Amino acid sequence: MAIHTKGLVLKVSDIGESDRVVTLLTDDYGVIRAFANRAKKMNSKMQSSTQLLSYSDFSVYTGNNSYIIDSAEVIEVFFGLRNDIEKLALGQYFCSLALELIPEGEPSSESLRVILNSLSFLQNEKRSREFIKAVTELKLLSIAGFAPNVEACSSCGKSPSGDVFFNLNSGRFTCRDCSGNGKRISAGILTALRFVIYNPVDRMYSFALSPDDMLGFSHLCESFLLAQTKKEFKTLNFYKSVIS
Ligand SMILES: [Zn+2]
Repeated sequence: MAIHTKGLVLKVSDIGESDRVVTLLTDDYGVIRAFANRAKKMNSKMQSSTQLLSYSDFSVYTGNNSYIIDSAEVIEVFFGLRNDIEKLALGQYFCSLALELIPEGEPSSESLRVILNSLSFLQNEKRSREFIKAVTELKLLSIAGFAPNVEACSSCGKSPSGDVFFNLNSGRFTCRDCSGNGKRISAGILTALRFVIYNPVDRMYSFALSPDDMLGFSHLCESFLLAQTKKEFKTLNFYKSVIS
């Protein structure tokens, strides 16, 4: 059977001298692994569509539990990420997040739009890298079912004004009256968390933060992601090594 789907290349493995296996994040079929025969040949049209972070329209044959790419038309190669090591490293980290958080074989158009949106913002420098990184971490986590409960204090049920205490493991917060353990975050950071979680993907960047809150928001999103996934991401460590 032949299928058509748009997909972003999350991972590339070369096989021998001319073939590749690519892991794609597609809108209709979620994460799939597909063979790209002869993709590494110099004159292959498949060469650019099967490189990391390329977004293309794929025609794929399915059968025997495997996918084989028949043809591909490039939509966007994110060239602006490829000549900037910091942007490229962050883009690779987003690919790792997708591989960790998005299930194989299930429609994932919302997560795909998060990553495409973020790569575009990163390429065109529409927001700072730290802002883009934090929003991407939080939105992908939320879609994957790890959204923190940011409605109200988990102890008294009130919606507080002012600082709160956020628990990275439970994903809940308590107000100052109830105190409890947790990372102290400002009202501005709580508002930012709500904004990203409750708004659709195409609006997830439509807010601003003070420099102090930006720093806190960025630390919180990364810490929350690491606490929830209980993973160490090599691509995150690499990103940090190139920006330091
Ligand atoms: Zn309370």
